[in-house]
Amino acid sequence: MLELSTPVQYVKGVGPRIAEALAAKGIRTVGDLLHYLPFRYEDRQNPRGIAELRAGEMATVIAEVRNSGLFRTRRMPIFQLTVGQGRARLRCLWFNATYLQDKFQPGQMLALYGKVEEDPRSRELQIIQPQIEVLSESGEGDGSGAEKKAAESLEIGRIVPIYEATGRLTSRWFRRIIRTALDDLTPDLPEAIPAIVRARLGLISPRAALWNVHWPEPGESLQGLQSSRTPAHIRLIFDELFFVELGLELKRSQQKAQTGIAFRLDDRVRAAIKKILPFHPTAAQKRVLKEIASDMEKPYPMRRLLQGDVGSGKTIVGFEAAIIAIENGCQVALMAPTEILAQQHYFSARRILEGAGYRIVLLTGSLEADRKREIRRHIAQGNAQLVIGTHALLEEKVEFAKPGLVIVDEQHRFGVMQRLKLMKKSADTESTRVQTSASPLQAEAKPSAPLQPAEPDVLVMTATPIPRTLALTLYGDLDLSVLDELPPGRTPIVTRSISDDQSPKVWEFVRKQVNAGHQAYVVYPVIAENEESELKAAVKMYRELSGKIFADLKVGLLHGRLDPELKEQVMRMFQKGELQILVATTVIEVGVDVPNATVMVIEHAERFGLAQLHQLRGRIGRGAAKSYCILVTGGKVTEDGQKRLDAMVRTNDGFQIAELDLELRGPGEFFGTRQAGLPSFRVANIIRDAELLEAAKREAAAVLAGPNSEVSSEEISRALVRMRALWHHTYGLVEVG
Ligand code: ADP
Ligand code: MG
Repeated sequence: MLELSTPVQYVKGVGPRIAEALAAKGIRTVGDLLHYLPFRYEDRQNPRGIAELRAGEMATVIAEVRNSGLFRTRRMPIFQLTVGQGRARLRCLWFNATYLQDKFQPGQMLALYGKVEEDPRSRELQIIQPQIEVLSESGEGDGSGAEKKAAESLEIGRIVPIYEATGRLTSRWFRRIIRTALDDLTPDLPEAIPAIVRARLGLISPRAALWNVHWPEPGESLQGLQSSRTPAHIRLIFDELFFVELGLELKRSQQKAQTGIAFRLDDRVRAAIKKILPFHPTAAQKRVLKEIASDMEKPYPMRRLLQGDVGSGKTIVGFEAAIIAIENGCQVALMAPTEILAQQHYFSARRILEGAGYRIVLLTGSLEADRKREIRRHIAQGNAQLVIGTHALLEEKVEFAKPGLVIVDEQHRFGVMQRLKLMKKSADTESTRVQTSASPLQAEAKPSAPLQPAEPDVLVMTATPIPRTLALTLYGDLDLSVLDELPPGRTPIVTRSISDDQSPKVWEFVRKQVNAGHQAYVVYPVIAENEESELKAAVKMYRELSGKIFADLKVGLLHGRLDPELKEQVMRMFQKGELQILVATTVIEVGVDVPNATVMVIEHAERFGLAQLHQLRGRIGRGAAKSYCILVTGGKVTEDGQKRLDAMVRTNDGFQIAELDLELRGPGEFFGTRQAGLPSFRVANIIRDAELLEAAKREAAAVLAGPNSEVSSEEISRALVRMRALWHHTYGLVEVG
């Protein structure tokens, strides 16, 4: 008997060599194999009479062999087979099929499946290269044997699953091997979803689900099958989503069980916030701050994701939260993904907060060792109240005297793994002295010790508007706030896509804008793979612009390889308006804020991803003046590339862009790398299955709220054990805890 966890090699017909080929597809166990679902189904039920066939349809025909033979044409040998039902006849053709010669005898019963076509010359119907199966040999009597055989066939007279072939393993091969695995599968598969949940969702048993998803019952809705909405599909998809959400919910409840800092938000703190605000916050900013502040007041640690399109004004909200922590005598860490962005935050923090007497430091990797040591001392002694930095804050030994709040800006550049590491870190520095970290289940059984030091609050800010379903999975352990309103006075950005043979016109337009007192970005793609050559091209372009086309203007160059000090200087000059045109690589993608810049020219725009284009465009349109984004294409544009450009021209809405991006790239790539920590689902698709995802989240929370009359403690622990196994082995997620 096979168990789901049995290595796939033990399925009859799979040897070590095939097992290796399957492993490359991620199929290692019987369970993996059985979750290799058909990507479509063919309806080969209801055999048809030859006389009623129509050109263009897919049809199953059961008929008798009349004659066959090989024809040699000038171009290739063609095998022709004629079958009949009474007087009706049908011709089938195979090209280059000498191997079929002598295979058929008159009188044999065959089942055929294929597309019916009309021969252009004779106007007769025929099927080219049908799937074929011999049902009975000639002279076997009344044909009842043939009928029985047809009922047992894997390919004919039923709904047939079609699998994606891989290498030499064909769809047909998968059909047979999966059938074998199902036949030998243990009858009692473990059921780890609590009964009440199964009842609420009407879930069928795991065994029935696995059988029916591969071998649908006769009459199953073909539409349901194709859209993965049969009871069998729903059971398998829900399984997957439920255990991912269960892990996330568990994390969340563990976080809530930890001791946090209950910040006080009184009139004094409110006044301190009001004092620094350089403008009236938008209604969205007010609402979001309220959500954050209410978390911060609670005695358990905040874990909140602030999601807002580029330019929606997340920074000031972060600063407001920082003031709450600082006014309560705590320190705040603000982390950015790049040095440029950290620097920029540092400038604006000083501009906005220093007047009110807050002590702010910048800690980045490129500082000299002496300077770093001194800053670290400030932090350790509690002098520094707001510490702004890059990853260096994560990686180096930075001890905070009284950490209260960690703000992570532009989260999508960090990846989820790093986010988890960050949280571990803040827990480590604080609590390793008191207790070693317990495994999730232990931690759950044993409420956190009262002496455990307080965990800092965490606010994650992301500029990528993540579609809600994705946010639910990726950040299921975070509460979500959304800034869905842009600050007033913005005019929408006008975006155009244009071919690079029109460059002179583009430069003319840039000049016009500069003459009107504005500034411009010219962005050049530099992708890691071709870094050397592309960097050269970017530098060449800079020379051309600064030396020739805009020789009379002040043009700067910014790219990742520049010395950090030079980078800072260039950025500062552009910010102050001392440079009119900034030629840059994607280092400016995140966060850079120069409201006077109204033009962005993106060279080779077809090479950029959609999210990246939108991020880049977010650097303009930050002031009251009308802004223009010009997407210049050079070379061949792929179909997907064209879709990306069209989307950019069509909309400024980050959420729409994100949805389309997710569609084009698929969830696995949405965040750039696998490393992003997105679970690699076997059957679920978080776009298609958004509703099931919501249900899974809801049910997971309900289960963890037990034990009670609905779920027993036994059911809960069974579910948790399964969850841990899946997280670990199948989804490769970081363990809960
Ligand atoms: P992002 O959400 O992309 O980080 P920022 O925080 O950089 O956006 O804000 C974008 C720009 O909008 C900044 O120049 C900021 O000063 C300005 N801004 C933010 N909130 C408001 C507001 N309520 N009224 C006017 N300007 C605002
Ligand atoms: Mg920002």
